[in-house]
Amino acid sequence: METVRHSEHTLKTALISENPRLVSQYEKLDAGERRLLNEAFKPDHDLFGPITLHSQSDWIISHPEAPQDFEQFFSDPYRKAPSPDKRSIYIQCIGSLGNTRIISEEYIKWLKGYCEAFFYGLTVKLLEPVPVSATRCSFRVNDNTQNLQIHAGHILKFLKKKKPEDAFCIVGITMIDLYPRDSWNFVFGQASLTDGVGIFSFARYGSDFYSSRYEGRVSKLQKGSSSDYAVFDNYYTPQVTSVLLLRSCKTLTHEIGHIFGLRHCQWLACLMQGSNHLEEADRRPLNLCPICLRKLQCAIGFNIRERYKALVRWIEDESDSPGVSTKRGREGTVDLPKPVDAFKEWKEWIIKCLAVVQK
Ligand SMILES: [Zn+2]
Ligand SMILES: [Zn+2]
Repeated sequence: METVRHSEHTLKTALISENPRLVSQYEKLDAGERRLLNEAFKPDHDLFGPITLHSQSDWIISHPEAPQDFEQFFSDPYRKAPSPDKRSIYIQCIGSLGNTRIISEEYIKWLKGYCEAFFYGLTVKLLEPVPVSATRCSFRVNDNTQNLQIHAGHILKFLKKKKPEDAFCIVGITMIDLYPRDSWNFVFGQASLTDGVGIFSFARYGSDFYSSRYEGRVSKLQKGSSSDYAVFDNYYTPQVTSVLLLRSCKTLTHEIGHIFGLRHCQWLACLMQGSNHLEEADRRPLNLCPICLRKLQCAIGFNIRERYKALVRWIEDESDSPGVSTKRGREGTVDLPKPVDAFKEWKEWIIKCLAVVQK
C-alpha cells in the first residue's frame, strides 16, 4: 500500500492559497473553523489522513488529472454556485428504490435528510417518483450481467426538462443500472455540470450485485419489446441495508459535489477522491477534507459547526420521518428505522471535529 503525502507547505497553500484576497477571506473565518481547517496541514494531525493507494487500478493511478486547490476552485469561471433564487436541490426518483412502496418512500426521505445536512443551508426537495416509462428512455438487457439497464443520456434529457425554476440542480436516482452508450458495459452515473443535472444508479451497491445469487437477471428482451416498459414492473431491487444507505449517501454527495464545481480531490482522504471500482469507493470516507470543505462552504456559506451538528442529528435520529406515522394500513405497525449502523464510526469522527471547532 502506498500513501500520497504532500508537504505542510503544499497543503497549506492548497487550503489557504497565496492570493492576498483569499488569505484575508480565510482570516475572516471564525477562529474555531480555522482551527479545524488548519488540521489539513498540521504535522501530527489525525483527523484528516493521507490518501492511500491499494492497487494499480485505483483512480489516481489510472486517471491522472490536474489537482484543484481552493484558489483554482474559487476562480473557475465555469463553476456554478447557488444564487438567492436558486437554492434548492431536487431529487427525482426513477422506478422503485425498494421492494415495497413504504421502503422506497422512507429510503428517499433518508437521502433527502442526509443531503440537507451535508449541503447545509440549501433546501432539498423531492419530486413525485416516476416509473421508468415516464422518461421514455431506451433500455436493454446487459449481455454480460443480464440485468436491465436504462440509457443515462435520455434520463438526463428528461430531468433537464423537469428542472424547476428555483433549482440549483436536479438529480435523478434509480435502482436500475445505467449505460451511457451501446458500446459501454455500464456507468454508475452521469451528469451535466453546465445544466446542473445528474443521474445516479445504486443498482451495483446492493450486497448481491456481483454474486451468483443476484436476482436482477432477466432473459433477453423479446423482439419488438424494446419499447414495452412492463419489464420494469416489479423488477428486482436490492435489500435496503445500512451499507446500501451509506453507499448511496456517499455517491449522491460526491456527485452533487461535482455539480458545485469540486473536482476530484488529490490532497487528503476525502469524499471527493475519484473511485474506479466499488472497493475504492468503499474506502473513501464520507467526509470532505478541509480543502474541499472550504470550497463547499464558499459555495453555500454554511457555518461548519452547525453543519456537523446537523449531520450528527441525522445519524442519531433513526426515524427521520417527523409527522409520518409508522402505522400503515390494516397489516398493523410497520416499523422501519433508518439503518444507520454503518454511520456510527463516522459520527464519532464528527464529534471529534466538533470538539476542535468548539474548543
Ligand atoms: Zn467523481
Ligand atoms: Zn478533498
